[in-house]
Amino acid sequence: MITEEESRVLKFIDRSREDIIGHLRKLIGFRTITPQENETAEGEDYRDLQDFIRSILEEMGFSIDMWEIDSSELDSFPGSGVLKDRDLGNMPVLAGKLEGNGKGRSLILNGHYDVVPAGIIENWKHPPFDAEIEDNKIFGRGASDMKGGIAAIIHALRAIQQTGVILKGDVTVETVPDEEQTCMGTLSCCQRGYTADAAIIPEPTEMKILVAMRGSLYGKITVPGRAGHAEVSHPDWTKGGAVNAISKAAKIIAAMDELNDEWRHSPEKQHKYLDPDIITPTIIHGGEWPVTHPEKVEIIFGSMFIPGTKDKIKEIEAKLKSVADSDSWLKEHPPRLETEGWAYGAEVKEDEPIVDVGKEALRDLGFEPELRGYGTLTDSIHLINHMGIPSISIGPDINTAHMADEYVDIDELMNTTKVMALCIMRWCGTGA
Ligand SMILES: [Zn+2]
Repeated sequence: MITEEESRVLKFIDRSREDIIGHLRKLIGFRTITPQENETAEGEDYRDLQDFIRSILEEMGFSIDMWEIDSSELDSFPGSGVLKDRDLGNMPVLAGKLEGNGKGRSLILNGHYDVVPAGIIENWKHPPFDAEIEDNKIFGRGASDMKGGIAAIIHALRAIQQTGVILKGDVTVETVPDEEQTCMGTLSCCQRGYTADAAIIPEPTEMKILVAMRGSLYGKITVPGRAGHAEVSHPDWTKGGAVNAISKAAKIIAAMDELNDEWRHSPEKQHKYLDPDIITPTIIHGGEWPVTHPEKVEIIFGSMFIPGTKDKIKEIEAKLKSVADSDSWLKEHPPRLETEGWAYGAEVKEDEPIVDVGKEALRDLGFEPELRGYGTLTDSIHLINHMGIPSISIGPDINTAHMADEYVDIDELMNTTKVMALCIMRWCGTGA
């Protein structure tokens, strides 16, 4: 049930509609694109966005901590996903803290401000950084994933303050870079000591409560062959003949399909909210000359896995070994597996108090609360696994995230702001 105090806050949010739209349009206008793997962020937009958020939060009485990440100094551990040589310069992290009176539960509100590249601009009807409005939707890269969520956090807090509501628990707002690549922005917040009794990340979830996500591993399998003229006959490899690395790689790709089949049917790989583990070849390089048996093939792959999977590398290695054991060449010249670091999956228990708070807030705003999982991960992995902070996401529609003409529906943006406001007040507690 919505209290009189909460109702005042929700009405204030309704009256702030134009301000919320204006702030989100401004956020979309900053071109805070996640740099490609070996690139560095360029231009002033990343810092300008953070300065913009900083000025709003400072005006609301938050104390602000802003820093740049030196990836080489981050603690890397299994599942951290840390890439030590990634350059995160020029993409500051911001953590703002508003202290309550110490009598309530503390809360982290986290949002990533980096966005995936716009892709082919001609495919956009509305230019990706112009934040045009049509049909009650704001169009732009990051509108739903997740600058809309950041606008919702700011305006939920603002409405609480402007209506004179005092929060008991501490609130920390984190706006972070690089969620779309490494999640090192949030990891840096964790390693800097920011913690709370719970966390909410308003990633797009179709107004459902995100409680589980899969982890990910990326890697490369190098399959050796032995070069030789492709148009003459060869003796067996043991007698010096050529070995075609593409034919050997085909066995490994077939083995990936077998793995997917095994995982799909394995009881340990079933999860209430997530699809089972999967491995997918995504890039293949091989062959040197049209008339030469290729001497090397590289298979790049991605693998996603449920939080219960403890050692994905070991599982893949075991399968590679079984392929190699059944092939005399590969047995003596085993395929080599290299991985780039990996990130764990995460989940919160369905009966965590923050999940209940989310459910109640949704119900009070007219939504039937529903829990869900994500096939991919979010910054919650570090809050949950590294810090032990129960962390959920609730936010707008996801169906255009990472696509051309990404948008957020303005009513959903308003509802996300209201859900955040109710969750903040109910989690932290209000009053003197
Ligand atoms: Zn996101």
